[in-house]
Amino acid sequence: MSSKLKNAERLERKQQKADAGIMSERHPDVASVIIFMNYYHGSSAQVIMQRTVNFFPGSATYFNMECMKRDCIDGGFNLEPVIAKMVKGRLKSAKGELACAGKDSPGHARIGYKISIKYNNTSR
Ligand SMILES: [Zn+2]
Repeated sequence: MSSKLKNAERLERKQQKADAGIMSERHPDVASVIIFMNYYHGSSAQVIMQRTVNFFPGSATYFNMECMKRDCIDGGFNLEPVIAKMVKGRLKSAKGELACAGKDSPGHARIGYKISIKYNNTSR
């Protein structure tokens, strides 16, 4: 995998992040989103890493988590649809599993995630 390609992907991600907009605009009801993730190597049950990512009203609405494989191209874990659905239904928590979509080589990660969303008290 050339580093040139990886750099192009990195730039693309940066652009996507910029295009995603601020959370307070996209989801004004949301006070915070916390994503807990356990990373697994391929299909093994061994946790290789744990990660928690917090989003606040000023954060970019970008929930595409990176695969930790160094040369992963077009992979990652897009939690955007999960979160959009949760916000729509005003769900406070959800959990599930995702495998990296990168198919260029073996050894991509798999995550078990737990998402916790806090909402603003809006009186409507
Ligand atoms: Zn990957």
